[in-house]
Amino acid sequence: MVQNSRSPSILRKKLLRLADGLRERFGVPSRPRRANILDALVQTLLSQSTTDHNRNLAFNELKKQFPDWEAASAATQGALARAVRSAGLGNQKAARIRSFLHWLRDEHGELSLEFLKEKSDTQAVELLTRHKGIGIKTAYVTLMWASDRDLFAVDVHIHRIAGRLGLIGAKTTPEKAHSELGPFVPKGRAFELHVNMLALGRTICKARSPKCGECDFRRMCHYYRELNRKNSNQVPEPKRTRDKRRRAPKN
Ligand code: SF4
Repeated sequence: MVQNSRSPSILRKKLLRLADGLRERFGVPSRPRRANILDALVQTLLSQSTTDHNRNLAFNELKKQFPDWEAASAATQGALARAVRSAGLGNQKAARIRSFLHWLRDEHGELSLEFLKEKSDTQAVELLTRHKGIGIKTAYVTLMWASDRDLFAVDVHIHRIAGRLGLIGAKTTPEKAHSELGPFVPKGRAFELHVNMLALGRTICKARSPKCGECDFRRMCHYYRELNRKNSNQVPEPKRTRDKRRRAPKN
């Protein structure tokens, strides 16, 4: 039977080869001290469409102005927006954080998400993604950083690299990529693969001008293969030279 390039067994092998190759280049990232899940969620919400630096500035300011989530929950949307403005989209992010805090208090009686530890991966993701502004990626990133869950979060770098390597289809959305890749990531290595693919995306497989010459994954890369095929098809046209031969006189 012919296996296509994304058959389960090939995908599993490719992801293992990728995880091993990245480990050789970048090592095994250490898992940070587990964050409070609600803190991790708010940080992830703030990180949307901005840099880690600006996310951290906004989160620190939020914590400075509102020492606990009760105080943040009681604040006006405007006050929250001013606190988080360095992360950009201040009003939108403030509205989402405030609405989530209010829901959490109403539904669970306290401003804590630690009860999620008792839930399965699917239940925890489903509960978080019910809320506006919390997509699959935000839920996965939150749970991945705040717990030991073996969840593989797909961000913009990982989606790009997975597409280039042919691990997902050209039309696979980042959301869909979670379910297409997750089951085939080597067990217990989702966090490591996530962090190391980010490192690859930031240093070598950049969005513009990937440094394929420095990459260890050229042999399994569809993008690289296609690039080579296009380059080899570009046969230069022969130069036109004037025909200097004398034409034979017509009779
Ligand atoms: S060969 Fe190039 S495009 Fe493919 S993964 Fe490596 S850097 Fe990215």
